[in-house]
Amino acid sequence: MQLWHGALKLPPMPALEQKLKEVFGYDTFRPHQREICESFMTGRDTLAVLPTGAGKSLCYQLPAVIGDGLTVVVSPLIALMKDQVDQLTASGVAATFLNSTLDSAEAKKRFAKLYAGEYRLLYLAPERLMLPDFLPKLGEWGMKALAVDEAHCISEWGHDFRPEYRRLREVRETFEDIPLLALTATATPRVREDIRTQLELRDPEIFIASFNRPNLTYRVVPKAKAAAQVVKFVGERGGEAGIVYAQSRRAAESLAAALCEAGVRAAPYHAGLEADERARNQEGFLRDEVQVVCATIAFGMGINKPNVRYVIHADLPKNVESYYQETGRAGRDGLPSECLLLYSRGDVVKYLRFFEEITDRQARNEARTQLEKMTHFAEDERCRRVALLGYFGEQWTEENCGACDQCLAPREKWDATTDVQKLLSCVLRLRQKSGFSTGLQHAVEVLTGRKSEKILRWGHDTVSTYALGRDQPRAYWVDLGRQLLRLGLLEATEDKFATISVSARGMEVLRERTPVQLTRPMVVPAKDKSPGAARKRRPRAGEVECDEGLFDVLRKLRAELARGRNVPPYVVFSDATLRHMARDYPRDEVSLLQVPGVGERKLSDYGQVFLAAIGGWLSTKPRQRFS
Ligand code: ADP
Ligand code: ZN
Repeated sequence: MQLWHGALKLPPMPALEQKLKEVFGYDTFRPHQREICESFMTGRDTLAVLPTGAGKSLCYQLPAVIGDGLTVVVSPLIALMKDQVDQLTASGVAATFLNSTLDSAEAKKRFAKLYAGEYRLLYLAPERLMLPDFLPKLGEWGMKALAVDEAHCISEWGHDFRPEYRRLREVRETFEDIPLLALTATATPRVREDIRTQLELRDPEIFIASFNRPNLTYRVVPKAKAAAQVVKFVGERGGEAGIVYAQSRRAAESLAAALCEAGVRAAPYHAGLEADERARNQEGFLRDEVQVVCATIAFGMGINKPNVRYVIHADLPKNVESYYQETGRAGRDGLPSECLLLYSRGDVVKYLRFFEEITDRQARNEARTQLEKMTHFAEDERCRRVALLGYFGEQWTEENCGACDQCLAPREKWDATTDVQKLLSCVLRLRQKSGFSTGLQHAVEVLTGRKSEKILRWGHDTVSTYALGRDQPRAYWVDLGRQLLRLGLLEATEDKFATISVSARGMEVLRERTPVQLTRPMVVPAKDKSPGAARKRRPRAGEVECDEGLFDVLRKLRAELARGRNVPPYVVFSDATLRHMARDYPRDEVSLLQVPGVGERKLSDYGQVFLAAIGGWLSTKPRQRFS
């Protein structure tokens, strides 16, 4: 067996760059890509933890096209395999996959080519490895390296454990001298460590990227009428593709219906649909024929669509990890994309009720804790990036991220000292009076001077804080109470009828009359602060300004070509590539080759058609200039 690292040592530096351009059409590496390629190519086991959209595939695809030999890629999802092979083929790389969807004639053909050494990459479902006599074949096919995609599937701590992944250990033991590259977007240290031990990685070089997604803008707005809010948001974003997540099948259905009503090509996606309808809707989405998918969480795994421009959460996700993962499906291609969360306390209450049904105490508490963190994220007044990355143990130090609601339009701060004093002392007085704690709602009713049956029965209309907060509506006080809970000045019990009490810190604030600055409660944003509307804005990360009219023309051309070849449009060119074309107006092959994402194979396959389209456009339209 020829060893690729043995034969090559480290390839001369420009060789990697040259192949990157020639085959994939990119001029530069994304962060960590080069180092990962190099580590892997020198024969070292490598673990790469990179967020979605960081470009993990390239880390084994580029080494695979350098030198001889076969790179075997283990990937859990059949749909993704086909997608990757389509993309590689479009770039002129000989790649194939083996899985249960192939008929025996087709499989035979592929086997023959594998024996003949005609492929550079072979994608495999992990089940394959369990087939008797399969492993020795890998040797006969000249396997030089093994890449394990979605490596977290090997861990029981991960979110999609696949027992078959445990068999990878055998590959490791059978082929001791080939390097193994494990890739994952799962950030938790426990899973990372599990990957390392389960795969028996030997002295691996480990790369962990920041989990910040610079091209995503995060916004949280109060949920009022979800369907109307979604329809408005989608309507303002032209024909861009997006995903709307809902917690129930019914909600997914009704959101899709509302969008269709408004003339948007939307489709539902959830476990209650027939398998073929589900497949049809997903396929339509990949092919840009369905614009918006309204889905329960069942949607997303196996979706590689790079040009998802927004992800809307119409309901609160159950935990921050899901939120991060789901929003992460936006903007894989690096272009600016948006994440919108519609937040309502009502969702929280619904979940809490639902959690009551969990019989296992520990599981119930865990669910509550997770939800609480999610709630805090939604109600947090700090930069969303600080909060989100902080959750994963990463520190975000930039003062203004420029791409979240808090940084784009900071909520007003105000001096809440007096009102905080009122609320805290009311809670305290009630406890002193009755000897037991009450819920927040009750305390607010006392403060606003209601004459409820309970208030009268318990004599709470006689405490000194009764009606002291009459000048503000009840909702105001409830919101204030929640902020104080979040700040730890009030404490709540965990049970069903949560009662509140003043914490030690709250007592101190009360005693010392410590000034308290609070943020105004969230209100429905006055106007959409979309980038176009803002006066003096800085460019968003990943933004490629371009001639939108031409971009549209190129997009249509791409759709047509893709349909003819029976592949998703992004296999032809990415949105980013089209935007660069619509910005630089290349007129000949040399300048077209300068465009990121145009490699030699795509130039020869599609160059002429795209040049003709650009020429045609310029014959009637003026050329725009971009700084
Ligand atoms: P991941 O698996 O990490 O989510 P992918 O491998 O799917 O990410 O890559 C995301 C997108 O980034 C793809 O559209 C890919 O073509 C693009 N990409 C990868 N590497 C580069 C690069 N060096 N320059 C420009 N685009 C890149
Ligand atoms: Zn921010």
